[in-house]
Amino acid sequence: MNKPAIEGGTPVRDTKIYYGHQYIDDADIQAVVDVLKSDAITCGPKIKELEEKLCRMTGAGYAVVCSNGTAALHIAALAAGVGEGDEVITTPITFAASANCALYCGARPVFADINPETYNIDPAKVQAAVTPRTKAVVAVSYTGQSVEFEPLKKICRENHLTLIEDGAHVIGTKYNGQPNGSVADMTTFSFHPVKTVTCGEGGAVLTNDETLYRKLLLYRAHGITRDDAQMEHEPDGSWYYEQIALGYNYRMTDIQAALLISQLDKLEMFSRRRKEIVARYDEAFAKLSGLFVQKEIPESDTTRHLYILRIVPDKLRINRKQFFEALAAENVCCNVHYIPTYYFPYYEKLGYRRGLCPNAEKLYEEIISLPLYYAMSDEDVESVIEAVTKIASYYAKE
Ligand SMILES: *Cc1c(COP(=O)(O)O)cnc(C)c1O
Repeated sequence: MNKPAIEGGTPVRDTKIYYGHQYIDDADIQAVVDVLKSDAITCGPKIKELEEKLCRMTGAGYAVVCSNGTAALHIAALAAGVGEGDEVITTPITFAASANCALYCGARPVFADINPETYNIDPAKVQAAVTPRTKAVVAVSYTGQSVEFEPLKKICRENHLTLIEDGAHVIGTKYNGQPNGSVADMTTFSFHPVKTVTCGEGGAVLTNDETLYRKLLLYRAHGITRDDAQMEHEPDGSWYYEQIALGYNYRMTDIQAALLISQLDKLEMFSRRRKEIVARYDEAFAKLSGLFVQKEIPESDTTRHLYILRIVPDKLRINRKQFFEALAAENVCCNVHYIPTYYFPYYEKLGYRRGLCPNAEKLYEEIISLPLYYAMSDEDVESVIEAVTKIASYYAKE
């Protein structure tokens, strides 16, 4: 049998491959240069153009772009009215920002466990976590697979909760044929370089609700309005504006907006390639004992941001950590998404303890994020498959 590199064998590839990488082409570069040569590098026309493009692509009524996905979650929580003493239900299998946005508003994150097969938040666990203090649900479409909107929307409607989709992974996905971004009360996007489309740092909130939209605009820019209808005092003159809420400076620059407009032209191409790679991985790994692939719900037509390989510990002689190190020795450099949020010392100090979400904790012990991005060549994909196959076969229990 082919010996793993970690045991002294030859690595499947000479150069390292990482789990994610952006793809920037000449059109992207030209778009940025054009803005740099223009009059407005921030607060200019590219912001509106980008917001209109996001609305067209998702079917959402309104889009508010901002400085990053975390800022998007923060203004979404504020627009939902989340405040001191409230509770916000979310999943622990996510980046910390999904829960931190509740803390920013003085609210308490409440963690609901995941479905052990789809890895998304379990609507039944959300239902069980609702209390009179619950204000909102932050449902993360983890890896790009849509959360189960039908039951989640019902729970939110019945309990007067705002449903925020943390869609940092989800751009390009459709739920029952409808693009994610127009399904929840609000969907947030992130445009960090590891995500499907990027502008360096960037985010957006999408909604169909005009009242939420007005609030999002205020919180993005200092709580300042230039709209007479929103003002308390008579305008002194045409220069006049009022601060009517405590907002932030979470604006995106036109430099970033131009880059993102150009990136969005490639979304379909990115999505197609990601689907191809996922199909190839799924097919290769389904044959191997000791490996699970993520279950897809039929409602989700998924543009996958992350590919999660789950190992079944009792079928292998090695654990996740050893599997991860063995892949690294093959020059396949992976990652783990995510450490349950409440494991972090900051959350421990707030009183959260391990044991809250058993499915999430078990998942965390067993997962590895494999390389998945548009610019991977077929040879890259095959080398990842070869490395996983070699390790899973070599360490299989008899
Ligand atoms: C990336 C990410 C965020 C934060 O986005 P930034 O743009 O990095 O602030 C939030 N939630 C999830 C699930 C993410 O993956």
